[in-house]
Amino acid sequence: MPMDSLEASAVDVLVIGGGNAGLCAAITARRAGARVLLLESATKHLRGGNSRHTRDIRYMHRGATEYVTGSYPEAEFWEDLRQVTGGDTNERLALQVIRSSEDLASWMQTQGVRWQKPLRGTLHLARTNLFMLGGGKAMVNAYYETALALGVKVAYQCEVRELDIRDGRFVAARGGAAEEFRARALVVAAGGFEANISWLKEYWGEAAENFVIRGTPYNQGRMLKELLRCGAKPTGNPRGCHAVALDARAPKFDGGIVTRLDSVPFGIVVNNKVERFYDEGEDFWPKRYAIWGGLIARQPDQIAYSILDAKALPCFMPSVFPPVEAGSIPELAAALALDPEKLTAVVERYNRAVRPGTFNPAVLDDCRTEGLEPPKSHWARPIDTPPFYGYPLRPGITFTYLGVAVDERARVIFQDERPAQNVFAAGEVMAGNILTQGYLAGFGLTIGAVFGRIAGQEAARCAAS
Ligand SMILES: Cc1cc2nc3c(=O)[nH]c(=O)nc-3n(C[C@H](O)[C@H](O)[C@H](O)COP(=O)(O)OP(=O)(O)OC[C@H]3O[C@@H](n4cnc5c(N)ncnc54)[C@H](O)[C@@H]3O)c2cc1C
Repeated sequence: MPMDSLEASAVDVLVIGGGNAGLCAAITARRAGARVLLLESATKHLRGGNSRHTRDIRYMHRGATEYVTGSYPEAEFWEDLRQVTGGDTNERLALQVIRSSEDLASWMQTQGVRWQKPLRGTLHLARTNLFMLGGGKAMVNAYYETALALGVKVAYQCEVRELDIRDGRFVAARGGAAEEFRARALVVAAGGFEANISWLKEYWGEAAENFVIRGTPYNQGRMLKELLRCGAKPTGNPRGCHAVALDARAPKFDGGIVTRLDSVPFGIVVNNKVERFYDEGEDFWPKRYAIWGGLIARQPDQIAYSILDAKALPCFMPSVFPPVEAGSIPELAAALALDPEKLTAVVERYNRAVRPGTFNPAVLDDCRTEGLEPPKSHWARPIDTPPFYGYPLRPGITFTYLGVAVDERARVIFQDERPAQNVFAAGEVMAGNILTQGYLAGFGLTIGAVFGRIAGQEAARCAAS
């Protein structure tokens, strides 16, 4: 472990995981006076977990600022969350996150995070979300700089393998080579199990082999598994996850944001049997993009194809890979290894079903199909203007929704319903308390920042008592 002079006895709060949640916890605990050690699996170069791939954070606010275009009140935030989760959320904790998000803009700025002015784009988040200047990498770097300046000790390449928790009390964490870490309180912020294909297979079967992991390969779920082994109460949905339509040419891990495709609402999507399988224009993309990975995961061979024409191309941010281009639909089908006759028939049937309307990506417009199954409810325009384009799509797993139950003080809850004495959790590892299905763009960071701060505060208080 490349960390020398920290005696185990000098640690009050041990934080496992150096992404958004762990860093918010470490900074808060340190500011509250605790001596903090943060352990991170990755090298310094690859630190920051999934958080380093992020761009924006959703937060409650009462009016427009230099960085957001209007207000986003508690009631609207809650209604948005209720809708995407179908009401399957811990209302108490969800409302706590929403209310506590109000001061995140200023708190994060105090830790060195900088904001950028609203951009135009396909995700329409300029009112509800703050965008980090320099993205997640800049945010993570700012947090590390602040944490180190405050005196937080950080150990990279230090994967924790085992937790010793007895009667709800943390005793020690063990890494490789007989390393043992003791502290008066523990914060687990080590992400979900999205990079663990074998674990994903338990719920998705062999289909999981075809999943692409958008973020860090280090989120293997080892700490989640350890907490569960030690008796923590599971919560959330083991099969639930944030999963998007990803360019099938993306690398297996860590492709980040540039491999995501936002083309879906502007064309049609077919599987390799050349069948449409879901309403591409059901709702605004920020409320739907996170279900498309799951939809593709349920298709044969876990592959799908986004089919577009020249009109659609300027409507969305392209992926880092160029689209497959052809002068006609049969040629496009051939280039994508799809049946040309079938694709021609599907496109013609779709074109005939499109009703005239006024196309407007900024609203739920009246461009829809009639008599088509599944329907396309908005942004439906005929696919008739060459050149035609196609993108192969794979399920891109962002993060998983199985977690450990926590209470409003971020204390891990055990199966006998008792809270842990000195074990706290924040971020993806407990997001399943709030997210079981669906997603609101920018909400992963909100959960991690809010619960990271609570966990840091509570762990410091616990260590001092
Ligand atoms: C491509 C991409 C884009 C995204 N964009 C956004 C966005 O714009 N806005 C948003 O809100 N959310 C976004 N998300 C989701 C967001 O990244 C997560 O919700 C959030 O960052 C999770 O933070 P975390 O601290 O819980 O986990 P992470 O940031 O993943 O941190 C977990 C850390 O724990 C470490 N770790 C894991 N196991 C161990 C172990 N055993 N021992 C030691 N360390 C360990 C990992 O190396 C990692 O650094 C995005 C995710 C991806 C992949």
